[in-house]
Amino acid sequence: MENRPFPFRRVCVFGAARSGVGAMHLLRHHDVQVTLVDERPAMEFRSLIRRLRRLYVTAHFGPMKEDVLRGCEAIIVSPGIPLEHPLISEAMDRDMPVISEVELASYFAKSPIVAITGTNGKTTTTILAGQMLTDSGVNAVVAGNIGRAFSDAVLSSQDETRDTKLVTEVSSFQLESIEDFCPHIAVILNISRDHMDRYPSMREYVEAKYRVTLNQTDEDFLILNNDDPICMKAAEESVAQIYTFSMKKEVEQGAFVQDGKIFLKEDGEATFFCTTNDVPMPGSHNIENTLAGLVINRRLGVSVESLQKTLSRFRGVEHRIEFVAASKEGISYYNDSKATNVDSLEKALLSFDRPIVLVAGGRDKQSAYDRLNSLVKERVKALVLIGEAKDLIKRHWGGLVETRDAGNMDEAVKVAAGLADEGDIVLLSPACTSFDMFKDYEERGRAFKRSVRAHLGI
Ligand code: ADP
Repeated sequence: MENRPFPFRRVCVFGAARSGVGAMHLLRHHDVQVTLVDERPAMEFRSLIRRLRRLYVTAHFGPMKEDVLRGCEAIIVSPGIPLEHPLISEAMDRDMPVISEVELASYFAKSPIVAITGTNGKTTTTILAGQMLTDSGVNAVVAGNIGRAFSDAVLSSQDETRDTKLVTEVSSFQLESIEDFCPHIAVILNISRDHMDRYPSMREYVEAKYRVTLNQTDEDFLILNNDDPICMKAAEESVAQIYTFSMKKEVEQGAFVQDGKIFLKEDGEATFFCTTNDVPMPGSHNIENTLAGLVINRRLGVSVESLQKTLSRFRGVEHRIEFVAASKEGISYYNDSKATNVDSLEKALLSFDRPIVLVAGGRDKQSAYDRLNSLVKERVKALVLIGEAKDLIKRHWGGLVETRDAGNMDEAVKVAAGLADEGDIVLLSPACTSFDMFKDYEERGRAFKRSVRAHLGI
């Protein structure tokens, strides 16, 4: 792959979490001078600070007193930082290029990029697509929310001589400030209302997603969800070759589901791949993610047999309707701690056809719980509530199903297990954030799994 030369010799990297640190290492590897800036206090970065000295990186932590942009020619922004931040406005006032971390990394990428975006399903699809590639013998370096920053993936593949593909999830925030980022394969899984707190309108959010295809050529591929009209509109803005996937109807080229069977559609011909029951991940949303993963991999030449093998073994991603264990009595436990909103809970409830004892609650996000009233009534056999939102949720759903309170995760699991019978599901799918009781959703999910194992004595 031809690389554009990176035109700057001294840059400011704003944000010292995973992406910023990844960017810093990549830049230092290419001998670019770095000023690393983060508003959090230095004491939070003790081990990093030791490394910085060895790398000859200037760092500013805590409130910005000095002119941290002095001497810098560009600023690299981590995905979590809003473009309205005063330091970025200042950079813009100085006519300094503002470069997102994915954009930066793509300057140095020597292997084709697969970029996966969408409102939901990015992580699952990215990991599945990466696993499919790895199992087929390709050196797939996967980046995103779980795992490494894209810069880190690019750095680790710099001197690779094997056939390598860089597979990364990209959020709309990351796509906002790209200029030349050009994935060989771009995927938009779906576009729905989310993150509206950060966008003045739906249109701007949608346009950020469409940017994933902005620089693609007719030798590249754009993979879209045929069942999502907003998604499909991206085709109008793209010169890439369009492939689609659908749960509802046969597509022109790509993959689709018909009568519970998955078909690949290539060169005008539909071939049976497997049944939807052969996909071990629960939920129809995961069939969509599977379809996207298949189209990506077929475009990269992976054989049908290899894909079938990977798919039959793929159990999904941690904290996303993750199977934890089954008890002797035939009760199955699932961890869906990533479900921090009502939409995700809805997906989880729709994923099972057995009665569910639901563990929910945490910190409320001003969600419209009422929207799920009928689904809760239909699928939830009993409800165990934890965290700050306990009373609020009880007001909405307490009258619909048997409801209990729990003070901590151990107690929640114990109470839920007591309410479940043979063949039932105990599901943690909180519909709330975790910050009232845990550091993040991952810590909450791990606590649930520990409690389940302790309860089952395994
Ligand atoms: P992301 O990385 O986009 O947040 P994940 O793969 O981590 O997506 O999945 C997060 C949650 O989003 C899942 O628990 C599920 O509730 C929901 N989800 C996953 N895939 C899809 C999909 N294709 N369509 C709609 N919702 C999905």
